[in-house]
Amino acid sequence: MRRRLVVALVVVLVLACAVIGADRLVNARTFQLGGDLVHRVETAEKVVALTFDDGPSDKTESVLDVLREQQVRATFFLVGTDLHAQPALGRKIVADGHQVGNHSYTHSRMVFTGSGTVASEIERTDAEVRAAGYQGDIHFRPPYGKKLWTLPRYLAEHHRTTIMWDVEPETDPGIAGDADAVVRAVAETVRPGSIVLLHPMNEYNKATVTALPRIISELRGQGYRFVTVDELLRLR
Ligand SMILES: [Zn+2]
Repeated sequence: MRRRLVVALVVVLVLACAVIGADRLVNARTFQLGGDLVHRVETAEKVVALTFDDGPSDKTESVLDVLREQQVRATFFLVGTDLHAQPALGRKIVADGHQVGNHSYTHSRMVFTGSGTVASEIERTDAEVRAAGYQGDIHFRPPYGKKLWTLPRYLAEHHRTTIMWDVEPETDPGIAGDADAVVRAVAETVRPGSIVLLHPMNEYNKATVTALPRIISELRGQGYRFVTVDELLRLR
């Protein structure tokens, strides 16, 4: 019975690759083979979730300072190795009331990854997130947004939600590195229920830290209110 199920699932995978294209399937923001995936929430309310990937790093304090000054709560998708290296920063993020998600342990592409490795990447990071004092549900965001088969299957079996995004200004090389352009891109593409992906804690990415307070005031000017991913999910 189990063998027939596996054969059927492989057939679905091959068909999905043939119809959608393997590359598009791996990188899709709005679809994966199994499990709950959210890239934005359909709502008329002017709410937006700011999400920060990678780290914590030595730039985390500056990000937390901005959020504290602006009284914004955000969602941090943290990397297990970085949390392990700088546990005090993880505790600060949690103490400031932000949401914390799992962004894998080693930040490697999880495409042709064995199920044991997938479990270890996720569970070791969960342990670091809990050690930082975070008590809420821990959602997952795949490194580089990539996923194919074993990862979505693990997430589905463990009832974990995958959080993607619908606004990603830094992906455009003509925008990344230019704070003005990052602010403009977010202001122009955001809509009610959006999830914005930013990398202010990355070493190379000074522009996003500069852009962050301006993104917040620009969106507030448009009438937006900032929510965590969990608060956004409650509007579904
Ligand atoms: Zn990342």
